[in-house]
Amino acid sequence: MQKSTSAAVTELISGLGSKKILTTAEELVPFMKDASYISGKMPVAVCLPENAGEIAKILSICNKHRLDVTIRSAGTSLTGSSISGFPGVIISTMNLNRILEINTSSRYAVCEPGVRLDKLNQELKKYNFFYPPDPASSRASTVGGSLSTNAGGLRAVRYGATKEWVLGMDVVLPDGHIIRTGEYTLKRSAGYDLTALMIGSEGTLGVVTKAILKIEPLPESTAKIIGFYKDIESVGKTMDKIKSAGITPLIAEFMDLGTINSIRKGMGLEIPEYTKFLLMVDVDSPLEALNRKIESARNIFKEFTGDVNVITDIKRMDEIYAARKGAYSALLDLRENNNQLIVIGDVIVPSSELAGAMTEIEKCVRDDGVKATLFGHIGDGNIHANIFMDNTEEGRKNMEKLQMDIAKVAITHNGCVSAEHGIGTEKNRLLYEEYLERDSLYTLEIMKSIKKVFDPNNILNRGKIFYEPD
Ligand SMILES: Cc1cc2nc3c(=O)[nH]c(=O)nc-3n(C[C@H](O)[C@H](O)[C@H](O)COP(=O)(O)OP(=O)(O)OC[C@H]3O[C@@H](n4cnc5c(N)ncnc54)[C@H](O)[C@@H]3O)c2cc1C
Repeated sequence: MQKSTSAAVTELISGLGSKKILTTAEELVPFMKDASYISGKMPVAVCLPENAGEIAKILSICNKHRLDVTIRSAGTSLTGSSISGFPGVIISTMNLNRILEINTSSRYAVCEPGVRLDKLNQELKKYNFFYPPDPASSRASTVGGSLSTNAGGLRAVRYGATKEWVLGMDVVLPDGHIIRTGEYTLKRSAGYDLTALMIGSEGTLGVVTKAILKIEPLPESTAKIIGFYKDIESVGKTMDKIKSAGITPLIAEFMDLGTINSIRKGMGLEIPEYTKFLLMVDVDSPLEALNRKIESARNIFKEFTGDVNVITDIKRMDEIYAARKGAYSALLDLRENNNQLIVIGDVIVPSSELAGAMTEIEKCVRDDGVKATLFGHIGDGNIHANIFMDNTEEGRKNMEKLQMDIAKVAITHNGCVSAEHGIGTEKNRLLYEEYLERDSLYTLEIMKSIKKVFDPNNILNRGKIFYEPD
């Protein structure tokens, strides 16, 4: 360890107490991984602060010693954003896990960053309310992590991503200043929107220590409609038509046969022999109008496929929902060997472009001859092409080619290379390509200038988001 690094660790221990600073190898090793296929460097210390003041102290010390800092919540990042490529300090938010207030009249909840999303929703359910952003990882992922990646999830088709649901936050900056962005009110017109700037910033600007989140009453009654398909284009066309007919689903998910097979047991559905793709759409409405809504959606399904199931039993709907949420983890069972890694794709296109883009993405997978499964939050145009990568140089090259081919399809169809997982180190090459194709690389330069204002010494999550071509 360098002299200045060990001096910083000594200062951290004397500032916070040795119980809140982990320094032994067996304590540090787990922090070298997140849920992506990427591995990070072993940190020199992991800090377990309990409040904003302690975080300010940690950051001031690290800033003084120019020590790299990575903020970590649940570590479910799929892009390598909660691990570090440098041997620095990790700030874990696991001890900041309290729900501080629920206010149903003003429609907000105030949370510390380590609150798990499912825990928040379990609490809100007691009041008949919920917090809409719903990444499939919601059992583990947290308020701080989801806010910093602008997480989407299954309900984004109706409610949008996390950015629509944050009113304000407290943030500790690298020099130790604690700032408040936004407020408790639904409206605010007061200069630059620093709340929006923080969302999706992937721990590169500051540490969120408190968030004021908008909440909604739970939908009154819901139903799930499931169609089975022979071709992907018809899935895209069904979705396009449903949305054009004025139906905004609560959830709309598609999956290919590989994915269906991996979660078939959990879903407990009869799947017709010919099925290559499945589309599930949840609709909601006041009880008296639900049947009308189901019929409109079902008729659209029937234009594109013969077999359509309608499920209104809440328990069955919950089971299928849980099975779909397990799709990522189920992919692990589809690996050909334990060395194979899974790279989760995350492109998005406008709904009207879906049918074309999905057909082209399926063709890319076929042409490149790399194993991949497709599923996604199709209601908002988000397609996850999940690539099985052999852990060799050739395997990596093949993965990168397919990833870039798919990214180019999304860009050509007016879409983006990352819908909800963020950039991390895994997609920074793709983000660069997106701005290059749009002839807007200067946008990235402006982002870098903003980063410098917040973090002039570049200690926070160095190497994330920005790609530096040779
Ligand atoms: C099985 C599985 C399913 C998933 N499904 C979805 C999905 O449907 N939709 C979706 O959007 N994502 C999904 N993800 C990705 C991931 O769960 C989300 O990005 C999630 O929001 C990350 O939350 P986390 O608490 O694990 O954050 P972490 O992984 O710990 O951190 C993520 C990023 O946020 C930063 N960060 C964390 N806390 C703070 C803080 N307090 N202040 C500042 N920065 C902070 C970190 O530095 C990092 O850059 C899935 C992941 C898995 C493993």
